[in-house]
Amino acid sequence: MPKAEYLNYVGGEWVGAEKGETTTVINPANGAKLADVPKGGKADAEAAIDAAREAFDKGKWPRMTPGDRAAALLKLAALIESDMDRLAILESKNQGKTIKQARDGDLPFSVDNLRFMAGAARTLAGSASMEYAYGATSILRREPIGVVGSITPWNYPFMMDIWKIAPALAAGNTVVLKPASLTPVTTIELAKIIEKAGLPPGTVNVITGPGSVLGEALASSEKVDMVSLTGDTSTGKEIMRAGANNVKKLHLELGGKAPFIVFDDANLEAAAQGAVAASMVNGGQDCTQAARFLVQEKVYPKFVRRMVELLKTIRIGDPLERTTDLGPLVSDKQREKVEKYASIAKGEGAKLEIGGARPKGKAFEKGWYYLPTLFSDATFDMRISCEEVFGPIVTAMSFRTEEQAIEIANNVIYGLYSSVWTKNIHRAFRVANAMHFGAAEINEHLPLVSEMPHGGYKQSGFGKDLSIYSLEEYTNVKHVFVDMTDADRKPWHYTTFGDPM
Ligand code: NDP
Repeated sequence: MPKAEYLNYVGGEWVGAEKGETTTVINPANGAKLADVPKGGKADAEAAIDAAREAFDKGKWPRMTPGDRAAALLKLAALIESDMDRLAILESKNQGKTIKQARDGDLPFSVDNLRFMAGAARTLAGSASMEYAYGATSILRREPIGVVGSITPWNYPFMMDIWKIAPALAAGNTVVLKPASLTPVTTIELAKIIEKAGLPPGTVNVITGPGSVLGEALASSEKVDMVSLTGDTSTGKEIMRAGANNVKKLHLELGGKAPFIVFDDANLEAAAQGAVAASMVNGGQDCTQAARFLVQEKVYPKFVRRMVELLKTIRIGDPLERTTDLGPLVSDKQREKVEKYASIAKGEGAKLEIGGARPKGKAFEKGWYYLPTLFSDATFDMRISCEEVFGPIVTAMSFRTEEQAIEIANNVIYGLYSSVWTKNIHRAFRVANAMHFGAAEINEHLPLVSEMPHGGYKQSGFGKDLSIYSLEEYTNVKHVFVDMTDADRKPWHYTTFGDPM
Protein backbone atom coordinates (compact mmCIF):
# COMPACT_ATOMS: atom_id res chain seq x y z
CA MET A 1 0.00 0.00 0.00
CA PRO A 2 1.43 3.47 -0.92
CA LYS A 3 2.42 5.80 1.93
CA ALA A 4 -0.07 8.64 1.38
CA GLU A 5 -2.68 8.59 4.11
CA TYR A 6 -5.73 9.22 1.98
CA LEU A 7 -6.16 7.35 -1.26
CA ASN A 8 -9.03 5.68 -3.01
CA TYR A 9 -9.70 1.98 -2.43
CA VAL A 10 -10.50 0.20 -5.67
CA GLY A 11 -10.46 -3.55 -6.25
CA GLY A 12 -8.51 -4.00 -3.01
CA GLU A 13 -5.76 -1.55 -4.11
CA TRP A 14 -4.95 1.92 -2.78
CA VAL A 15 -4.83 4.36 -5.68
CA GLY A 16 -4.70 8.09 -6.37
CA ALA A 17 -6.95 9.79 -8.91
CA GLU A 18 -6.00 8.89 -12.47
CA LYS A 19 -5.10 12.50 -13.24
CA GLY A 20 -3.27 12.88 -9.94
CA GLU A 21 -5.56 15.68 -8.77
CA THR A 22 -6.44 16.18 -5.11
CA THR A 23 -9.03 18.09 -3.06
CA THR A 24 -8.10 19.79 0.18
CA VAL A 25 -10.41 18.94 3.06
CA ILE A 26 -10.91 21.69 5.64
CA ASN A 27 -11.58 21.58 9.38
CA PRO A 28 -14.70 23.76 9.72
CA ALA A 29 -13.86 24.72 13.32
CA ASN A 30 -10.76 26.69 12.32
CA GLY A 31 -10.53 26.75 8.51
CA ALA A 32 -7.24 24.79 8.63
CA LYS A 33 -6.33 22.04 6.19
CA LEU A 34 -7.19 18.59 7.48
CA ALA A 35 -6.15 16.38 4.57
CA ASP A 36 -5.73 16.03 0.85
CA VAL A 37 -7.84 13.37 -0.82
CA PRO A 38 -7.96 12.20 -4.44
CA LYS A 39 -10.17 14.25 -6.73
CA GLY A 40 -11.42 11.44 -8.89
CA GLY A 41 -12.84 11.81 -12.40
CA LYS A 42 -14.94 9.69 -14.73
CA ALA A 43 -12.13 7.18 -15.33
CA ASP A 44 -11.77 6.64 -11.57
CA ALA A 45 -15.50 6.02 -11.24
CA GLU A 46 -15.37 3.56 -14.11
CA ALA A 47 -12.45 1.67 -12.56
CA ALA A 48 -14.34 1.36 -9.27
CA ILE A 49 -17.52 0.26 -11.05
CA ASP A 50 -15.54 -2.36 -12.99
CA ALA A 51 -13.99 -3.66 -9.77
CA ALA A 52 -17.39 -3.93 -8.08
CA ARG A 53 -18.87 -5.55 -11.21
CA GLU A 54 -16.11 -8.15 -11.34
CA ALA A 55 -16.47 -8.82 -7.61
CA PHE A 56 -20.20 -9.32 -8.02
CA ASP A 57 -20.13 -11.40 -11.22
CA LYS A 58 -17.19 -13.62 -10.32
CA GLY A 59 -16.13 -12.83 -6.76
CA LYS A 60 -16.56 -14.56 -3.46
CA TRP A 61 -18.83 -12.19 -1.52
CA PRO A 62 -22.17 -12.82 -3.27
CA ARG A 63 -21.46 -16.56 -3.19
CA MET A 64 -20.70 -16.80 0.52
CA THR A 65 -23.34 -18.18 2.83
CA PRO A 66 -25.29 -15.57 4.80
CA GLY A 67 -23.61 -16.98 7.89
CA ASP A 68 -20.13 -16.31 6.53
CA ARG A 69 -21.13 -12.83 5.37
CA ALA A 70 -22.56 -12.17 8.83
CA ALA A 71 -19.30 -13.30 10.46
CA ALA A 72 -17.31 -10.90 8.26
CA LEU A 73 -19.64 -8.00 9.07
CA LEU A 74 -19.44 -8.77 12.78
CA LYS A 75 -15.65 -8.70 12.53
CA LEU A 76 -15.88 -5.32 10.79
CA ALA A 77 -18.19 -4.07 13.57
CA ALA A 78 -15.72 -5.21 16.24
CA LEU A 79 -12.82 -3.44 14.49
CA ILE A 80 -14.84 -0.23 14.25
CA GLU A 81 -15.87 -0.50 17.88
CA SER A 82 -12.26 -0.81 19.02
CA ASP A 83 -11.35 2.29 16.96
CA MET A 84 -14.24 4.57 17.96
CA ASP A 85 -12.20 7.14 19.91
CA ARG A 86 -9.92 7.87 16.96
CA LEU A 87 -12.72 7.81 14.40
CA ALA A 88 -14.85 10.17 16.51
CA ILE A 89 -12.05 12.74 16.68
CA LEU A 90 -11.56 12.58 12.91
CA GLU A 91 -15.31 12.87 12.31
CA SER A 92 -15.50 15.88 14.56
CA LYS A 93 -12.49 17.54 12.91
CA ASN A 94 -13.87 16.96 9.43
CA GLN A 95 -17.58 17.62 9.95
CA GLY A 96 -17.56 20.06 12.85
CA LYS A 97 -19.95 17.98 14.93
CA THR A 98 -19.35 17.83 18.67
CA ILE A 99 -17.18 15.05 19.98
CA LYS A 100 -19.96 13.85 22.30
CA GLN A 101 -22.30 13.50 19.33
CA ALA A 102 -19.69 11.63 17.26
CA ARG A 103 -18.31 9.42 20.05
CA ASP A 104 -21.47 8.72 22.04
CA GLY A 105 -24.02 8.91 19.21
CA ASP A 106 -22.98 8.33 15.61
CA LEU A 107 -20.24 5.73 16.13
CA PRO A 108 -21.88 3.36 18.63
CA PHE A 109 -25.11 3.59 16.63
CA SER A 110 -23.19 2.70 13.45
CA VAL A 111 -21.73 -0.36 15.17
CA ASP A 112 -25.21 -1.36 16.31
CA ASN A 113 -26.61 -0.86 12.79
CA LEU A 114 -23.87 -3.05 11.36
CA ARG A 115 -24.46 -5.77 13.93
CA PHE A 116 -28.19 -5.69 13.25
CA MET A 117 -27.60 -6.12 9.50
CA ALA A 118 -25.10 -8.93 10.11
CA GLY A 119 -27.80 -10.82 12.03
CA ALA A 120 -30.51 -9.89 9.55
CA ALA A 121 -28.42 -11.32 6.68
CA ARG A 122 -29.26 -14.76 8.04
CA THR A 123 -33.00 -14.18 8.16
CA LEU A 124 -33.67 -13.33 4.52
CA ALA A 125 -36.43 -15.61 3.33
CA GLY A 126 -39.29 -15.72 0.91
CA SER A 127 -42.62 -15.21 2.64
CA ALA A 128 -44.14 -18.42 1.30
CA SER A 129 -43.48 -21.60 -0.56
CA MET A 130 -46.60 -23.41 -1.70
CA GLU A 131 -48.54 -25.12 -4.51
CA TYR A 132 -50.43 -22.10 -5.88
CA ALA A 133 -51.06 -23.84 -9.24
CA TYR A 134 -52.04 -27.52 -9.70
CA GLY A 135 -48.96 -29.65 -10.26
CA ALA A 136 -46.39 -26.95 -9.44
CA THR A 137 -44.59 -25.54 -6.47
CA SER A 138 -43.69 -21.86 -6.08
CA ILE A 139 -40.60 -20.77 -4.21
CA LEU A 140 -39.45 -17.24 -3.41
CA ARG A 141 -35.79 -16.28 -3.45
CA ARG A 142 -34.34 -13.02 -2.22
CA GLU A 143 -31.26 -12.31 -4.26
CA PRO A 144 -28.71 -9.48 -4.20
CA ILE A 145 -29.31 -6.81 -6.81
CA GLY A 146 -25.72 -6.52 -8.05
CA VAL A 147 -23.49 -3.45 -7.99
CA VAL A 148 -24.77 -0.71 -5.70
CA GLY A 149 -23.56 2.88 -6.00
CA SER A 150 -23.81 4.48 -2.55
CA ILE A 151 -23.61 8.26 -2.36
CA THR A 152 -23.39 9.71 1.13
CA PRO A 153 -23.87 13.21 2.57
CA TRP A 154 -21.74 15.39 4.81
CA ASN A 155 -23.96 15.61 7.88
CA TYR A 156 -23.34 12.10 9.29
CA PRO A 157 -20.45 10.88 7.09
CA PHE A 158 -19.50 7.65 8.84
CA MET A 159 -22.99 6.69 9.98
CA MET A 160 -24.46 7.20 6.51
CA ASP A 161 -21.69 5.02 5.05
CA ILE A 162 -22.79 2.24 7.39
CA TRP A 163 -26.50 2.78 6.72
CA LYS A 164 -25.73 2.22 3.06
CA ILE A 165 -23.07 -0.47 2.96
CA ALA A 166 -24.39 -2.65 5.81
CA PRO A 167 -27.69 -3.74 4.19
CA ALA A 168 -26.11 -3.83 0.72
CA LEU A 169 -23.35 -6.16 1.91
CA ALA A 170 -25.60 -8.24 4.14
CA ALA A 171 -27.73 -9.00 1.08
CA GLY A 172 -24.66 -10.03 -0.95
CA ASN A 173 -24.19 -6.98 -3.20
CA THR A 174 -20.92 -5.26 -3.99
CA VAL A 175 -20.56 -1.52 -3.50
CA VAL A 176 -18.96 1.64 -4.87
CA LEU A 177 -19.11 4.16 -2.04
CA LYS A 178 -18.75 7.88 -2.75
CA PRO A 179 -18.65 10.21 0.27
CA ALA A 180 -19.47 13.93 0.14
CA SER A 181 -16.51 16.02 -0.99
CA LEU A 182 -16.61 18.06 2.23
CA THR A 183 -16.31 15.03 4.53
CA PRO A 184 -14.48 12.07 2.98
CA VAL A 185 -11.96 11.35 5.75
CA THR A 186 -13.77 8.78 7.88
CA THR A 187 -15.06 7.03 4.76
CA ILE A 188 -11.46 6.39 3.67
CA GLU A 189 -10.70 5.28 7.23
CA LEU A 190 -13.64 2.89 6.93
CA ALA A 191 -12.11 1.46 3.75
CA LYS A 192 -8.89 0.78 5.68
CA ILE A 193 -10.88 -1.08 8.32
CA ILE A 194 -12.76 -3.02 5.64
CA GLU A 195 -9.40 -4.13 4.22
CA LYS A 196 -8.28 -5.17 7.71
CA ALA A 197 -11.51 -7.12 8.22
CA GLY A 198 -10.59 -9.15 5.14
CA LEU A 199 -13.58 -8.50 2.90
CA PRO A 200 -12.72 -9.83 -0.57
CA PRO A 201 -11.14 -7.24 -2.94
CA GLY A 202 -13.72 -5.27 -4.94
CA THR A 203 -16.54 -5.95 -2.47
CA VAL A 204 -16.40 -2.34 -1.25
CA ASN A 205 -14.69 0.34 -3.33
CA VAL A 206 -14.30 3.91 -2.11
CA ILE A 207 -13.84 6.83 -4.47
CA THR A 208 -13.64 10.53 -3.66
CA GLY A 209 -14.35 13.45 -5.95
CA PRO A 210 -17.14 15.73 -7.11
CA GLY A 211 -20.68 14.36 -7.03
CA SER A 212 -21.46 16.06 -10.32
CA VAL A 213 -18.83 13.78 -11.94
CA LEU A 214 -18.55 10.61 -9.82
CA GLY A 215 -22.15 10.56 -8.64
CA GLU A 216 -23.36 11.19 -12.14
CA ALA A 217 -21.10 8.40 -13.46
CA LEU A 218 -22.55 5.96 -10.91
CA ALA A 219 -26.12 7.02 -11.60
CA SER A 220 -25.81 6.73 -15.37
CA SER A 221 -23.63 3.59 -15.63
CA GLU A 222 -25.26 0.52 -17.14
CA LYS A 223 -22.95 -1.61 -15.01
CA VAL A 224 -24.48 -0.25 -11.79
CA ASP A 225 -27.75 -1.90 -10.80
CA MET A 226 -28.85 0.36 -7.97
CA VAL A 227 -28.00 3.78 -6.59
CA SER A 228 -28.65 4.82 -3.04
CA LEU A 229 -28.36 8.50 -2.12
CA THR A 230 -28.81 10.52 1.03
CA GLY A 231 -28.74 14.16 0.05
CA ASP A 232 -30.68 17.08 -1.31
CA THR A 233 -34.03 16.60 -3.07
CA SER A 234 -32.62 18.30 -6.16
CA THR A 235 -29.74 15.77 -6.26
CA GLY A 236 -32.30 12.95 -5.94
CA LYS A 237 -34.07 14.31 -9.01
CA GLU A 238 -30.76 14.46 -10.94
CA ILE A 239 -30.08 10.84 -10.04
CA MET A 240 -33.57 9.80 -11.13
CA ARG A 241 -32.93 11.39 -14.52
CA ALA A 242 -29.48 9.81 -14.91
CA GLY A 243 -30.65 6.44 -13.55
CA ALA A 244 -33.38 6.22 -16.17
CA ASN A 245 -30.56 5.18 -18.49
CA ASN A 246 -30.80 1.53 -17.44
CA VAL A 247 -34.01 1.72 -15.38
CA LYS A 248 -31.89 1.60 -12.28
CA LYS A 249 -33.31 0.74 -8.90
CA LEU A 250 -33.10 3.80 -6.64
CA HIS A 251 -33.13 4.42 -2.93
CA LEU A 252 -33.39 8.11 -2.07
CA GLU A 253 -33.33 9.67 1.39
CA LEU A 254 -33.74 13.37 0.72
CA GLY A 255 -34.65 16.58 2.51
CA GLY A 256 -36.98 17.22 5.43
CA LYS A 257 -38.81 19.97 7.30
CA ALA A 258 -40.19 18.23 10.35
CA PRO A 259 -43.20 19.61 12.25
CA PHE A 260 -43.18 19.41 16.04
CA ILE A 261 -46.78 19.86 17.26
CA VAL A 262 -47.37 20.91 20.87
CA PHE A 263 -50.94 20.77 22.26
CA ASP A 264 -51.93 22.78 25.32
CA ASP A 265 -52.23 19.65 27.50
CA ALA A 266 -48.63 18.54 26.80
CA ASN A 267 -45.88 18.31 29.40
CA LEU A 268 -44.57 21.70 28.34
CA GLU A 269 -41.17 21.39 29.98
CA ALA A 270 -40.57 18.02 28.26
CA ALA A 271 -41.66 19.54 24.96
CA ALA A 272 -39.34 22.54 25.34
CA GLN A 273 -36.35 20.39 26.33
CA GLY A 274 -37.13 18.03 23.45
CA ALA A 275 -37.50 20.99 21.08
CA VAL A 276 -34.03 22.31 21.82
CA ALA A 277 -32.39 18.88 21.58
CA ALA A 278 -34.17 17.99 18.33
CA SER A 279 -33.62 21.36 16.66
CA MET A 280 -29.95 21.87 17.53
CA VAL A 281 -28.88 18.26 16.96
CA ASN A 282 -25.80 18.09 14.74
CA GLY A 283 -25.97 21.88 14.42
CA GLY A 284 -29.42 21.50 12.87
CA GLN A 285 -27.82 19.75 9.89
CA ASP A 286 -30.16 16.82 10.09
CA CYS A 287 -32.99 15.84 7.78
CA THR A 288 -35.13 14.85 10.79
CA GLN A 289 -34.41 18.15 12.60
CA ALA A 290 -37.46 19.57 14.39
CA ALA A 291 -37.71 22.72 12.30
CA ARG A 292 -41.32 23.91 12.53
CA PHE A 293 -42.79 24.31 16.02
CA LEU A 294 -46.58 24.39 15.87
CA VAL A 295 -47.82 25.31 19.32
CA GLN A 296 -51.45 25.59 20.49
CA GLU A 297 -52.26 29.24 21.16
CA LYS A 298 -52.93 28.96 24.91
CA VAL A 299 -49.39 27.72 25.65
CA TYR A 300 -47.60 29.35 22.71
CA PRO A 301 -46.07 32.37 24.56
CA LYS A 302 -44.91 30.20 27.46
CA PHE A 303 -43.40 27.57 25.14
CA VAL A 304 -41.49 30.16 23.09
CA ARG A 305 -40.22 31.86 26.28
CA ARG A 306 -38.97 28.56 27.68
CA MET A 307 -37.38 27.52 24.40
CA VAL A 308 -35.47 30.82 24.29
CA GLU A 309 -34.29 30.30 27.88
CA LEU A 310 -33.00 26.84 26.99
CA LEU A 311 -31.40 27.94 23.71
CA LYS A 312 -29.43 30.50 25.73
CA THR A 313 -27.81 27.63 27.64
CA ILE A 314 -26.36 26.03 24.48
CA ARG A 315 -22.58 26.12 24.73
CA ILE A 316 -21.08 26.99 21.36
CA GLY A 317 -17.39 26.37 20.75
CA ASP A 318 -14.62 23.94 19.89
CA PRO A 319 -16.35 20.70 18.87
CA LEU A 320 -13.51 18.62 20.28
CA GLU A 321 -14.35 19.77 23.84
CA ARG A 322 -16.78 17.46 25.61
CA THR A 323 -18.53 20.48 27.13
CA THR A 324 -19.40 21.94 23.72
CA ASP A 325 -23.04 21.59 22.61
CA LEU A 326 -22.83 23.29 19.22
CA GLY A 327 -19.89 23.29 16.82
CA PRO A 328 -19.48 25.10 13.51
CA LEU A 329 -21.51 24.46 10.40
CA VAL A 330 -19.88 22.13 7.92
CA SER A 331 -18.78 24.82 5.46
CA ASP A 332 -18.77 28.52 4.73
CA LYS A 333 -21.33 27.82 2.00
CA GLN A 334 -23.68 26.17 4.51
CA ARG A 335 -23.34 29.12 6.91
CA GLU A 336 -24.09 31.52 4.04
CA LYS A 337 -27.24 29.49 3.35
CA VAL A 338 -28.32 29.83 6.99
CA GLU A 339 -27.60 33.57 6.92
CA LYS A 340 -29.60 33.94 3.72
CA TYR A 341 -32.62 32.24 5.32
CA ALA A 342 -32.32 34.37 8.47
CA SER A 343 -32.52 37.47 6.35
CA ILE A 344 -35.42 36.01 4.31
CA ALA A 345 -37.29 35.26 7.58
CA LYS A 346 -36.80 38.84 8.78
CA GLY A 347 -37.99 40.14 5.42
CA GLU A 348 -41.07 37.89 5.61
CA GLY A 349 -42.01 39.39 8.99
CA ALA A 350 -41.08 36.56 11.37
CA LYS A 351 -39.95 37.76 14.80
CA LEU A 352 -36.36 37.02 15.79
CA GLU A 353 -36.42 35.68 19.38
CA ILE A 354 -32.76 34.71 19.72
CA GLY A 355 -29.62 34.38 17.59
CA GLY A 356 -29.72 35.45 13.98
CA ALA A 357 -25.97 36.17 13.85
CA ARG A 358 -22.47 34.74 14.09
CA PRO A 359 -21.10 34.45 17.63
CA LYS A 360 -18.60 37.15 18.56
CA GLY A 361 -15.09 36.57 19.88
CA LYS A 362 -11.65 35.46 18.77
CA ALA A 363 -12.48 31.76 19.22
CA PHE A 364 -15.07 31.98 16.45
CA GLU A 365 -13.18 34.07 13.91
CA LYS A 366 -11.80 31.27 11.79
CA GLY A 367 -14.61 28.71 12.00
CA TRP A 368 -18.07 28.65 10.41
CA TYR A 369 -20.11 29.21 13.56
CA TYR A 370 -23.68 30.47 13.82
CA LEU A 371 -25.78 31.12 16.92
CA PRO A 372 -28.85 29.04 17.81
CA THR A 373 -31.69 30.94 16.17
CA LEU A 374 -35.44 30.95 16.74
CA PHE A 375 -37.99 32.96 14.80
CA SER A 376 -41.51 33.16 16.26
CA ASP A 377 -44.80 34.35 14.76
CA ALA A 378 -43.98 32.57 11.49
CA THR A 379 -46.76 31.60 9.11
CA PHE A 380 -47.00 28.31 7.27
CA ASP A 381 -46.39 29.88 3.85
CA MET A 382 -43.16 31.73 4.66
CA ARG A 383 -40.08 30.31 2.92
CA ILE A 384 -38.42 29.86 6.31
CA SER A 385 -41.33 27.56 7.24
CA CYS A 386 -41.36 25.46 4.07
CA GLU A 387 -37.81 25.15 2.74
CA GLU A 388 -35.04 23.02 4.18
CA VAL A 389 -32.24 25.15 5.63
CA PHE A 390 -30.04 22.64 7.48
CA GLY A 391 -28.66 24.74 10.30
CA PRO A 392 -29.37 25.90 13.87
CA ILE A 393 -32.33 28.00 12.74
CA VAL A 394 -35.99 27.12 13.37
CA THR A 395 -39.44 28.71 13.51
CA ALA A 396 -42.43 28.70 15.85
CA MET A 397 -46.05 29.50 15.04
CA SER A 398 -49.33 29.11 16.89
CA PHE A 399 -52.47 27.18 15.97
CA ARG A 400 -56.00 26.95 17.33
CA THR A 401 -57.44 23.49 16.52
CA GLU A 402 -56.22 19.96 15.92
CA GLU A 403 -57.45 20.10 12.30
CA GLN A 404 -55.49 23.30 11.71
CA ALA A 405 -52.30 21.79 13.19
CA ILE A 406 -52.59 18.72 10.94
CA GLU A 407 -53.20 20.83 7.86
CA ILE A 408 -50.20 23.11 8.52
CA ALA A 409 -47.95 20.18 9.45
CA ASN A 410 -48.70 18.36 6.20
CA ASN A 411 -48.45 21.46 4.03
CA VAL A 412 -44.85 20.94 2.85
CA ILE A 413 -43.25 19.09 -0.03
CA TYR A 414 -41.28 16.97 2.46
CA GLY A 415 -42.46 13.97 4.48
CA LEU A 416 -39.68 12.49 6.56
CA TYR A 417 -40.23 13.11 10.26
CA SER A 418 -42.86 14.57 12.59
CA SER A 419 -43.84 14.57 16.23
CA VAL A 420 -46.87 15.31 18.37
CA TRP A 421 -46.77 16.33 22.03
CA THR A 422 -49.90 15.75 24.14
CA LYS A 423 -51.12 13.74 27.13
CA ASN A 424 -54.37 12.86 25.36
CA ILE A 425 -53.84 9.35 24.03
CA HIS A 426 -56.73 9.53 21.56
CA ARG A 427 -55.47 12.77 20.06
CA ALA A 428 -51.87 11.49 20.04
CA PHE A 429 -52.81 8.52 17.85
CA ARG A 430 -55.22 10.54 15.67
CA VAL A 431 -52.57 13.14 14.88
CA ALA A 432 -49.73 10.64 14.45
CA ASN A 433 -51.86 8.68 11.96
CA ALA A 434 -52.75 11.86 10.06
CA MET A 435 -49.12 12.85 9.49
CA HIS A 436 -47.96 12.41 5.88
CA PHE A 437 -44.50 11.56 7.07
CA GLY A 438 -42.40 8.39 7.22
CA ALA A 439 -42.18 8.73 11.01
CA ALA A 440 -44.47 10.22 13.64
CA GLU A 441 -43.21 10.25 17.20
CA ILE A 442 -45.38 10.85 20.25
CA ASN A 443 -43.88 12.95 23.06
CA GLU A 444 -40.39 12.49 21.57
CA HIS A 445 -38.55 13.70 18.49
CA LEU A 446 -35.48 12.08 16.95
CA PRO A 447 -34.57 8.69 18.40
CA LEU A 448 -33.98 6.02 15.79
CA VAL A 449 -33.38 2.34 16.38
CA SER A 450 -31.71 -0.27 14.19
CA GLU A 451 -34.85 -2.44 14.20
CA MET A 452 -37.26 0.18 12.83
CA PRO A 453 -37.34 1.71 9.33
CA HIS A 454 -36.37 5.28 8.51
CA GLY A 455 -37.38 6.93 5.26
CA GLY A 456 -39.56 9.48 3.61
CA TYR A 457 -42.90 10.17 2.00
CA LYS A 458 -43.40 12.72 -0.78
CA GLN A 459 -40.25 14.61 -1.86
CA SER A 460 -38.28 13.26 1.08
CA GLY A 461 -37.74 10.27 -1.19
CA PHE A 462 -38.43 6.57 -1.06
CA GLY A 463 -36.77 3.42 0.21
CA LYS A 464 -36.11 2.72 3.87
CA ASP A 465 -32.87 2.85 5.83
CA LEU A 466 -32.35 0.70 8.96
CA SER A 467 -34.36 -2.43 9.84
CA ILE A 468 -35.27 -5.47 7.79
CA TYR A 469 -37.07 -3.12 5.35
CA SER A 470 -33.72 -1.65 4.40
CA LEU A 471 -32.18 -5.07 3.86
CA GLU A 472 -35.09 -5.95 1.57
CA GLU A 473 -34.48 -2.75 -0.45
CA TYR A 474 -31.13 -4.21 -1.46
CA THR A 475 -32.60 -7.46 -2.76
CA ASN A 476 -34.59 -8.61 -5.75
CA VAL A 477 -37.46 -11.01 -5.20
CA LYS A 478 -37.45 -13.93 -7.58
CA HIS A 479 -40.33 -16.33 -8.11
CA VAL A 480 -39.09 -19.82 -8.94
CA PHE A 481 -41.94 -21.89 -10.40
CA VAL A 482 -41.34 -25.65 -10.43
CA ASP A 483 -43.35 -28.13 -12.49
CA MET A 484 -43.83 -31.34 -10.52
CA THR A 485 -45.70 -33.42 -13.13
CA ASP A 486 -43.22 -33.90 -15.99
CA ALA A 487 -46.32 -33.95 -18.28
CA ASP A 488 -45.72 -33.20 -22.00
CA ARG A 489 -48.90 -31.24 -22.36
CA LYS A 490 -50.18 -28.97 -19.63
CA PRO A 491 -53.89 -28.14 -19.12
CA TRP A 492 -53.42 -24.46 -20.04
CA HIS A 493 -51.63 -25.07 -23.40
CA TYR A 494 -54.92 -25.06 -25.34
CA THR A 495 -55.30 -21.32 -24.70
CA THR A 496 -52.32 -20.92 -27.04
CA PHE A 497 -52.78 -23.88 -29.39
CA GLY A 498 -55.11 -26.84 -29.78
CA ASP A 499 -58.17 -27.79 -27.75
CA PRO A 500 -58.74 -28.44 -24.04
CA MET A 501 -57.59 -31.83 -22.76
P1 NDP B 1 -25.93 17.13 -2.13
O1 NDP B 1 -27.23 16.46 -2.33
O2 NDP B 1 -25.33 17.83 -3.30
O3 NDP B 1 -24.84 16.10 -1.56
C1 NDP B 1 -25.10 14.77 -1.18
C2 NDP B 1 -24.21 13.80 -1.95
O4 NDP B 1 -24.60 13.80 -3.33
C3 NDP B 1 -22.73 14.18 -1.95
O5 NDP B 1 -21.95 13.01 -1.88
C4 NDP B 1 -22.57 14.86 -3.29
O6 NDP B 1 -21.23 14.87 -3.76
C5 NDP B 1 -23.46 14.02 -4.16
N1 NDP B 1 -23.88 14.65 -5.41
C6 NDP B 1 -23.94 15.97 -5.72
N2 NDP B 1 -24.38 16.16 -6.97
C7 NDP B 1 -24.61 14.93 -7.50
C8 NDP B 1 -25.08 14.44 -8.76
N3 NDP B 1 -25.42 15.28 -9.74
N4 NDP B 1 -25.20 13.12 -8.94
C9 NDP B 1 -24.89 12.27 -7.94
N5 NDP B 1 -24.42 12.66 -6.74
C10 NDP B 1 -24.29 13.97 -6.50
O7 NDP B 1 -26.11 18.16 -0.96
P2 NDP B 1 -25.27 19.51 -0.72
O8 NDP B 1 -23.96 19.13 -0.18
O9 NDP B 1 -25.28 20.37 -1.94
O10 NDP B 1 -26.17 20.24 0.38
C11 NDP B 1 -27.25 21.05 -0.05
C12 NDP B 1 -28.46 20.84 0.82
O11 NDP B 1 -28.91 19.49 0.72
C13 NDP B 1 -28.23 21.03 2.31
O12 NDP B 1 -28.27 22.38 2.66
C14 NDP B 1 -29.39 20.27 2.87
O13 NDP B 1 -30.54 21.08 2.82
C15 NDP B 1 -29.56 19.11 1.90
N6 NDP B 1 -28.93 17.87 2.40
C16 NDP B 1 -29.74 16.91 2.91
C17 NDP B 1 -29.20 15.77 3.46
C18 NDP B 1 -30.06 14.71 4.07
O14 NDP B 1 -29.65 14.06 5.03
N7 NDP B 1 -31.24 14.44 3.54
C19 NDP B 1 -27.75 15.56 3.54
C20 NDP B 1 -26.98 16.61 2.90
C21 NDP B 1 -27.58 17.72 2.39
P3 NDP B 1 -20.31 16.17 -3.52
O15 NDP B 1 -20.24 16.38 -2.06
O16 NDP B 1 -19.04 15.77 -4.12
O17 NDP B 1 -21.00 17.31 -4.22
